[in-house]
Amino acid sequence: MAAGRMILPWFGMVSSIAVDPIEKKPLFHYLPGSTALSLGFLGCNLRCPFCQNHRISQSTDAPAEYLPPDRAIDLAISEGSPSLAYTYSEPLIHAEYILACMERARKAGIGNILVTNGHAKGQARSDLLGLCDAANVDLKAWDPVFYRGELGGDREIVLDFIRAAVAAGVHVEITTLVIPGRNDEATDIEGIAGFISALDPGIPYHLSAYRPMYKYDLPPTPDETLERCASIARKWLHYVYVGNSLSLDNDTKCPDCGNVIVRRKGYRTAVTGLSGGRCAACARPIPIVIG
Ligand code: SF4
Repeated sequence: MAAGRMILPWFGMVSSIAVDPIEKKPLFHYLPGSTALSLGFLGCNLRCPFCQNHRISQSTDAPAEYLPPDRAIDLAISEGSPSLAYTYSEPLIHAEYILACMERARKAGIGNILVTNGHAKGQARSDLLGLCDAANVDLKAWDPVFYRGELGGDREIVLDFIRAAVAAGVHVEITTLVIPGRNDEATDIEGIAGFISALDPGIPYHLSAYRPMYKYDLPPTPDETLERCASIARKWLHYVYVGNSLSLDNDTKCPDCGNVIVRRKGYRTAVTGLSGGRCAACARPIPIVIG
């Protein structure tokens, strides 16, 4: 604060720009096969010791350049991306800039995507969600002690953020990075899947494999652990996916008849079994946003 004015030294300072497959966010049920112009920033309000983007999340010294909000929209349009993703480090701590982009994106018909740890409350949360089309929210663990002690976060704030996003009509998907011995007990996955299911069992849930990074040197998550966690989550949820594994099946299948709705190989997708928002084989409604 200076002379009664709030100074935002990192307003619009963008550390990363990329045109990503939307599946990389990950969002599997929102404009499948499209791309998102993805912007990363500097800093984070958490301190996850396994952060894959720690060079930009845990330091404000990384290279960054000012990107005017209008230019962000122009870039999305020129790259042919129907959406703009605020991602990589934590976007919510740059709410003023993101709101400026979101307002312009909405007027231009570009979707707004938040990839976030979900630590926002009050007016900032409702303003952001009011302009948000899709969000992937990290629900990093079910144990509130792990959230507080290991990550510096607050599970209840995240749960409230997810509830508010669903209530606001945002397309929501949820991700947990599965870390063996830290958050992969059956009770952890049951807690998360039960919470999501109580909101809507059709919310897509992503279980991603951890890889050694930053301060963590635990061995990577084996496929068997991901499969075990996914099979627990599938007792509660219709659409459970695994990430960071090349060998496991990630097709979207109809929960009723098993028809393949979206075929996936890596980040390549083909919508093969959807007709008018329903399974082409049995007509069950399938919650996928198609452009
Ligand atoms: S919330 Fe995300 S960006 Fe922030 S420290 Fe954790 S993993 Fe990194």
